[in-house]
Amino acid sequence: MCIFCKIVKGEIPNQTILEDENFLAFNDINPTRKIHVLIIPKEHYDSFDVVPSNIMADMTTFIQKVAAKLDIKQSGYRLITNIGDHGGQEVHHLHFHLIGGEPVGRLVR
Ligand code: 5GP
Ligand code: ZN
Repeated sequence: MCIFCKIVKGEIPNQTILEDENFLAFNDINPTRKIHVLIIPKEHYDSFDVVPSNIMADMTTFIQKVAAKLDIKQSGYRLITNIGDHGGQEVHHLHFHLIGGEPVGRLVR
């Protein structure tokens, strides 16, 4: 079982920000910004590349609720999802990184 499925099952502890029947938002163990939250579906999908669009639609609503709860809708934030080798994905359970709480800067090469 993957590490995020273990978090969903409660076998690995997490700092939960928001949870509903289908989704979970929790603090990244190694935060890169003041706010660094991971948002996952409780059901396992390897990445964004394979998630059904109806699940993604519900996940969009959930992510917006997470931003509201963190009170960053005014200040803004960045959402990232890494896909596969070239995307730099390390945990192969779909997750969005929500980073913010401070200016996160431009995407530069
Ligand atoms: P990826 O590179 O796959 O997009 O990102 C995986 C993220 O998961 C990394 O930012 C890493 O810090 C985070 N992570 C890995 N293991 C754990 C864990 O056990 N708990 C939490 N909260 N985050 C984790
Ligand atoms: Zn999983």
